[in-house]
Amino acid sequence: MSIAAQESADAARRIFESVYGAAPTGIWAAPGRVNVIGEHTDYNAGFVLPMGIDRYTAVAAAPRLDGVLRLVSSGGNTGVVEIALTSLAPGAQKDWTAYPAGVAWALGGAGALPAGFTGADLAYSSAVPVGSGLSSSAALECATGLALTGLAGQPISPAELARLTQLAENRYAGVPCGPLDQLSSAFAAADAVLHIDTRSFDIAVHPFALRDADLALLVMNTKVQHQHGESGYADRRATCERAAEALGVPALRDLAFGDLERAATVLDEVSLRRVRHVVTENERVNRFVSLLQLGPLEGPRLNSAGELLTASHLSLRDDFEVSCAELDTVVDAALRGGAHGARMTGGGFGGCAIALVSVDRLDRVTETVTDALPTAELFTVTADRGAFQVY
Ligand code: ADP
Ligand code: MG
Repeated sequence: MSIAAQESADAARRIFESVYGAAPTGIWAAPGRVNVIGEHTDYNAGFVLPMGIDRYTAVAAAPRLDGVLRLVSSGGNTGVVEIALTSLAPGAQKDWTAYPAGVAWALGGAGALPAGFTGADLAYSSAVPVGSGLSSSAALECATGLALTGLAGQPISPAELARLTQLAENRYAGVPCGPLDQLSSAFAAADAVLHIDTRSFDIAVHPFALRDADLALLVMNTKVQHQHGESGYADRRATCERAAEALGVPALRDLAFGDLERAATVLDEVSLRRVRHVVTENERVNRFVSLLQLGPLEGPRLNSAGELLTASHLSLRDDFEVSCAELDTVVDAALRGGAHGARMTGGGFGGCAIALVSVDRLDRVTETVTDALPTAELFTVTADRGAFQVY
């Protein structure tokens, strides 16, 4: 088991014992994720290529008999919160507890918890930066889903876990995310990326053993989150849906590069650029996967992979317009420092970017990025396993 998961699990256990004064029955953990390439494609039925990261949200848990959920998190800012199972309703919680409460609600509604489920004490500790585009929310949800079904003695498949936790985030917490984050946290595998078709939910696992190739994946957290992020996301989604309708396809996934000429005669200039991003981004994901299938990333393959990452960033910056000055700054700096490729990851408007860097260049890239944006937080990640029971 990875040390990262172990550390978060131990921290969750300590919180549980100090808050509830007893030992937990079990501890479950789920990772944050980095989407290597394939951004804003998941709500267009397209392709994504995420990996779980060696940063986990762990939850220590024990059953209760009185129909109550008690929740506490080191990252929660609320102290202990009590929620009666009978009071679970979308919108009922306004703080972080909406995520775990929503998971209990979604599991209950889907019959994934037995009718006789009578509550739980839960204590969380997380090493996933919150609100930075590394999917702390999905890690929180997936850890919760495994813990509750584990306590109830009713195992859940990764596919059900992903589906019901996405439902919780969409319907209970009111966040209109696509399926990428929860699928990543539920299905992630060590030293691998997941090639996900978000229409069929087919997942192909490809080796991504960076260390064996003397490569590092550097996360550059800008630690900014611009106000218009939420409205920007909703706007891009709506534009994509309208464009698909105008072009007579179920989703933008159904367009190929050759369709862009026709699209130009139907769509306004801005919509056309949004569509062009989605079409070219799907193409980049599949080309990146083709490179991985040829063998370890080295030589010309490594250069091509890096170029795809950087091309993804430029498309998100210029065509989809979801980057921001801070993300552009760290991406440009990483490339100047000698990264093979770099791009924003996650929804954009702030949060994190990633850079693919040869290990012997890591110090130089780190220095260049730190000079360019001294407030950025930098750390490397490896591809780690998906949600699991730690103890
Ligand atoms: P991201 O998923 O990219 O980190 P989101 O805005 O989707 O960003 O989710 C962040 C929210 O999830 C936080 O504001 C908080 O409500 C909740 N959250 C995530 N992790 C934790 C945690 N460990 N403890 C408490 N709340 C958390
Ligand atoms: Mg999230």
